[in-house]
Amino acid sequence: MSGPSGRRGVMMKKIIILMMGLACCFSRCYAADDEAVYGAVKPDDYVTGRFDPSKQEMFVSLADTGIPTNKWRHLLRREAAEALKKMYDAFRKENPKAPFWVQSSTRNFYDQKGIWDGKWNGTITVMNVSLNKTIRDPLKRALEILKYSSMPGTSRHHWGTDFDLNVLNNSYYETGEGKQLYQWLLKNAGRYGFCQPYTSGRNAGYNEEKWHWSYVPLSKVFIVKWNDLYRKNPGAFSKKGLFCGSEAAGKLAPAYVNAIQKDCD
Ligand SMILES: [Zn+2]
Repeated sequence: MSGPSGRRGVMMKKIIILMMGLACCFSRCYAADDEAVYGAVKPDDYVTGRFDPSKQEMFVSLADTGIPTNKWRHLLRREAAEALKKMYDAFRKENPKAPFWVQSSTRNFYDQKGIWDGKWNGTITVMNVSLNKTIRDPLKRALEILKYSSMPGTSRHHWGTDFDLNVLNNSYYETGEGKQLYQWLLKNAGRYGFCQPYTSGRNAGYNEEKWHWSYVPLSKVFIVKWNDLYRKNPGAFSKKGLFCGSEAAGKLAPAYVNAIQKDCD
């Protein structure tokens, strides 16, 4: 029994046990990584905003960080909030009186659905127009909303990495205090991990948004997971009844999610 074939058998068994051990270790490592990034939320649910950020320990309230906000309830991922506080402190030191506040932060699927459906139904106007009265064609109406608003399940605001500053109007950033802030961000935000996803000069996706900034170390992980999910199940984004006009508009989702400035990848 101790001949060459017996020894080969023992060796094979050892190799199999070693490989099983390695596979087990890898799966544990990946699971631990997922837990650090997504907490208790399923990754697919996380990247489409199907969770309540106020119930997740990995989210913090900006009111507790000393970052000025327009209302008490603003949540971001802890990593993004810590980096934003460092960036805010640096800005404040150089610009003691210039306005800087967070106007908008994490919104989940259901928050985004409220915005999208409101714009679709005309209860929220777009440039003072009720789109339900002016655009009948569903695809055309979706394209109008998509100039500045995302479909539910496709917004970077779902991820806890993205926020809007001060005023949601590009002209604010072209003079005075707004320009002072924007020019400072262009020069310094990258040092703190932030980028502006929706710049001018891109040839697809949302219009320019000088107020919207993103924490890249995390958002670059979430965009990969979002694209994986879309590839696996594109139909899930254009299911009937998902949101108003989802059947017509859902297929546009990847073009909008991915049309970002290259520093944000
Ligand atoms: Zn935004």
